[in-house]
Amino acid sequence: MIKFDLESKICYTICMENYMIDVHAHLNDFDDMEKVILNSNQNGVKKIITAGYDLSSSRKCVEIASQYENVFAVVGVHPENVDALKGDYLSALQDLAKNDKVVGIGEIGLDYHYTKENKGKQAQVLIEQIELANKLNLPIVVHSRDAMSDTLEILKSHMPSAGGLMHCYSGSVESAKELLKLNFSFSFGGVCTFKNAKNVCEVIASLPCERIMLETDCPYMAPVPHRGERNEPKFLPHILEKIAEIKGVSFEDMATKTTQNAERLFKI
Ligand SMILES: [Zn+2]
Repeated sequence: MIKFDLESKICYTICMENYMIDVHAHLNDFDDMEKVILNSNQNGVKKIITAGYDLSSSRKCVEIASQYENVFAVVGVHPENVDALKGDYLSALQDLAKNDKVVGIGEIGLDYHYTKENKGKQAQVLIEQIELANKLNLPIVVHSRDAMSDTLEILKSHMPSAGGLMHCYSGSVESAKELLKLNFSFSFGGVCTFKNAKNVCEVIASLPCERIMLETDCPYMAPVPHRGERNEPKFLPHILEKIAEIKGVSFEDMATKTTQNAERLFKI
């Protein structure tokens, strides 16, 4: 048994097998990563998947995962970084993805929030990376912002054969239904604890528990009551608590479910 106490704001006792998994963190963005990982483990987070967003962060994620037994990596190029790509990025990515601790290709996707001018390039890089994932039999981790209909269209025509995860999902209930049909799972982070998170909470309510996972997307998007602070995987219990409340299941059962879901998709 482990008892963890987040600055006296939450205090739970959970069984060893109910430990949580943070399926989307950016550990490479921390200067004090060692301490961050240790604090997470002491707060019930048993495994962390650290996600790359370009070649150098992906390389760093693989290094971190190689160093820590309970850390895994996904490698990929985020849509905001496609314009900076030079040379044969795909071979470099493939070399990284062959590492034993790499459990997926991500985060990849489409993001029209800041610019749609490079739509074509974003789509091309997304498709190339889905094809790489399929070749290596790895699941994909998708980031989609203000681009859901194009994302859906690409995913329908280029199905990820080893499955996929929509990270920090912010789309509609209808799009989530389409994605369920494509065998996608969904991970949610701090946003679901925000006061104005009605849409995300409706999506969570509509999904089967078998398709839900937990993420922090740290160091960004800290959950309430830490909103505005630097986010860390150790805050995962706040997100779990909110999702369990929406689904009307116990904290412990939701911990078990989300952990099993992550272990199944990423084979960890
Ligand atoms: Zn991220």
